[in-house]
Amino acid sequence: MTRKVISLAEIRDGSLRNVSLEAIAAAKTIAQGGEVVAVLVGENVQSHANELIAHGADRVVVVEHAQLKAYTPDGYGQALMAVVEAEKPEGIVFGHTALGKDLSPKLATKLNAGLVSDVVAIEEKDGEVLFTRPIYSGKAFEKKVVNGGLIFITVRPNNIPALSRDDARTGEVTTLSVDIKDLRTIVKEIVRKTAEGVDLSEAKVIVAGGRGVKSEDGFKPLQELADVLGGAVGASRGACDAGYCDYSLQIGQTGKVVTPDLYIACGISGAIQHLAGMSNSKVIVAINKDPEANIFKVADYGIVGDLFEVVPLLTEEFKKL
Ligand code: FAD
Repeated sequence: MTRKVISLAEIRDGSLRNVSLEAIAAAKTIAQGGEVVAVLVGENVQSHANELIAHGADRVVVVEHAQLKAYTPDGYGQALMAVVEAEKPEGIVFGHTALGKDLSPKLATKLNAGLVSDVVAIEEKDGEVLFTRPIYSGKAFEKKVVNGGLIFITVRPNNIPALSRDDARTGEVTTLSVDIKDLRTIVKEIVRKTAEGVDLSEAKVIVAGGRGVKSEDGFKPLQELADVLGGAVGASRGACDAGYCDYSLQIGQTGKVVTPDLYIACGISGAIQHLAGMSNSKVIVAINKDPEANIFKVADYGIVGDLFEVVPLLTEEFKKL
């Protein structure tokens, strides 16, 4: 059954988030040969339309408005409701990001639609589309099919590969004029707590530190390794609670859920709540001086040793590559 599927593109710091390109790839599978329409919402965002087409969108609908400069559930909700009204899609794909997690259930409820969230794989089998999502903090996976009707999907970053860029692809770009009104909240200012750098939830490489890092300064060698690998620094709650780093770096059940290609855990014991946020990483390397540490049970490679000796050695070796 072919479907018309729309996917919402997210922009951060003037660039499309990678998960928006992954959402297009997901939309393609769900559409089963039907049309994929990417949606850009914001202020002065039309310039990103060609990139969405190059990555597989058949068409792009742009909703621009001064009130949409920053995300608000009200404003984006009004914009997307207008797109749904105009396009009448059978599926809507979001990234499983803070925005996607906030907006998709609100709209799904409003439209009496289904929602499959945190999808890590989508496949077509015997004419049906099968969604895989982790349950019980990643200890098991469930596979779901959808029995018709409008369906919302959120896709976890770094799991469904984006289609490779093809600048020869063409597609129509249209603007939809929406009267954004009666907003209950308006963003006046965004105050950043963390330094600029690679976005933790989309990073391909994460170097994470735990209580074994021992101090704020102890994170410096981890940052150096992350910089050499083009990755981001993360942390256990133990490290955050101890005041060594900001809570925005926390990975785990009550922090961020990440699935990088490479996760290097330094001085992290491997509590179940930490594993809930990182155990689906593709390759896990653990550095811990306790050979009995639980983290080694999920690690592909384990280094028993002092992280303050091992991490700088790794940095030096990676610098040579
Ligand atoms: P520790 O358990 O103290 O481990 C430190 C490790 O460092 C040890 O294994 C030690 O051998 C090693 N070490 C020490 N020095 C060195 C060195 N020089 N070189 C190498 N290794 C060294 N935790 C999370 O991470 N994320 C969550 O989202 C989260 N949510 C939670 C939710 C709830 C409801 C609860 C109850 C707990 C939650 N926790 C979470 C906390 C979790 O249970 C653990 O307390 C926490 O993960 C421990 O952090 P840690 O591994 O850094 O510290």
